[in-house]
Amino acid sequence: MPLTVDQAMQPALSRFAMNQITTPEWSMAQAIDGYAAQGVGGIAVWRHFLDDYGTARTARHLRDAGLWVASLCTSAWLNEPDAVGLRKAIDENIRILEKAAEIGAPCVVMVVGGLPAGSRDIAGQRERVREALHELLPHARRTGVKLGLEPLHPMYAGDRNVLSTLKQANDLCDELGEGAGLVADVYHCWWDPEFRNELKRAGPERILTFHYCDWLVPTRSMRDRGMVGDGVIDIARIRRWLDALGYAGPFELEIFSELDWWKRDPSETTRIGIERCLPHVGPLVRAKPE
Ligand code: ZN
Repeated sequence: MPLTVDQAMQPALSRFAMNQITTPEWSMAQAIDGYAAQGVGGIAVWRHFLDDYGTARTARHLRDAGLWVASLCTSAWLNEPDAVGLRKAIDENIRILEKAAEIGAPCVVMVVGGLPAGSRDIAGQRERVREALHELLPHARRTGVKLGLEPLHPMYAGDRNVLSTLKQANDLCDELGEGAGLVADVYHCWWDPEFRNELKRAGPERILTFHYCDWLVPTRSMRDRGMVGDGVIDIARIRRWLDALGYAGPFELEIFSELDWWKRDPSETTRIGIERCLPHVGPLVRAKPE
């Protein structure tokens, strides 16, 4: 029998975070209060809302509302065509890591940008990103905020993120070591035959946070992600994989939906999001092997 929100209570939502982009009509203050009012444990903060409201004020408000932070979204893109621009973007990311530390975010979600303007060299751009991540690593270690590498579906490789698969992200994590980890998103990874293997390869510690939504058929635009349960992703199965690994981190509901959910009342989106996610975000953590 499916759980209801009434049965949820705190433990059932203790690992669940609303990703703020799911309710973009809400300001930072409205989102913090709106999520807390419905019993959500955590929030994934977006940078434009953070900058609007102010880092110190956000940190205070989060503490007062009792919300923990799953992640800060997202990094500044690392796809400036020239060295000066790239340097600026790296410096901006250092400031973002510092802001993340101030609000208690354990990671910054690294969405690194697509190809530089005029470029056709995706291999070259991936190499530039690799080098930039090495430059950021000491700052991640210093601030205690991890670089959360989030591969995006390859349809975004041109304009948003040249990091496209969990294998790429795992390879980078192997190389970077302490201070780097994965952000896995069902929307970007569900199609990948190596999804489960790469989660296993990552292990529970490397997975920093996990994004839920659904893949709609048909998908009508680049911002047409579905509510959990409305698409073709077997989320229950993926959750079982994570439990088997001993993953103990957050589950975020992150929906980009210009045609549907972004048009609704944010408290309705939050309420339905909780109902749909509830069977998949519970606190079960299987004991890790000795
Ligand atoms: Zn995501």
